[in-house]
Amino acid sequence: MSVTADIDLKDLVRTIPDYPKPGIMFRDITTLLRHANGFRVCVEQLARPFADRRVQAVAGIEARGFILGGAVADRLRCGFVPIRKKGKLPGKAIGQDYELEYGIDVIEIHEDAIGAGDPVLLVDDLIATGGTAEAAVKLLRRINADVVGAAFVIDLPDLGGAARLAKLGVECHTLISFEGD
Ligand code: AMP
Repeated sequence: MSVTADIDLKDLVRTIPDYPKPGIMFRDITTLLRHANGFRVCVEQLARPFADRRVQAVAGIEARGFILGGAVADRLRCGFVPIRKKGKLPGKAIGQDYELEYGIDVIEIHEDAIGAGDPVLLVDDLIATGGTAEAAVKLLRRINADVVGAAFVIDLPDLGGAARLAKLGVECHTLISFEGD
């Protein structure tokens, strides 16, 4: 029996209004992650378009991208590379800043994380404006990785993130979307 057919991943995502601040509809994937079949189906679907491609490593964005990215890497039988918030990586790292609604944030990657030309898949839980993912793509390209695609569980299409990645020439794969925000 196919488990995939019986599961609607969207039903497993919990929406928490006004978190972390008024007006934000927070799409909480902890309810999906704790569901054994939901988690497995989600990881399978994230990995599927890349199963027949050569992927040397999955790069996951802290923190929810670590949970999903690690599992996707295991499924693709490749390595995992963390993209972390500033100051968390122990080795020599390079940083990339990106704009938040209020202010600027920085993510970092070890400068020797990926060999030049190696194909890498970027993974995170959700793409909204695409600012975080764009910064991650820039970091990966600065260390000469070949970004073969990006995979997210959730797309918020009205915020334009997937289109922003397309402009960078990155194929964006998403599983479910929430219109409006
Ligand atoms: P962005 O850079 O605007 O694409 O935002 C993506 C990052 O912010 C991801 O790491 C998400 O986990 C987080 N994020 C942004 N908006 C939401 C939301 N409505 N619900 C849950 N997480 C969000």
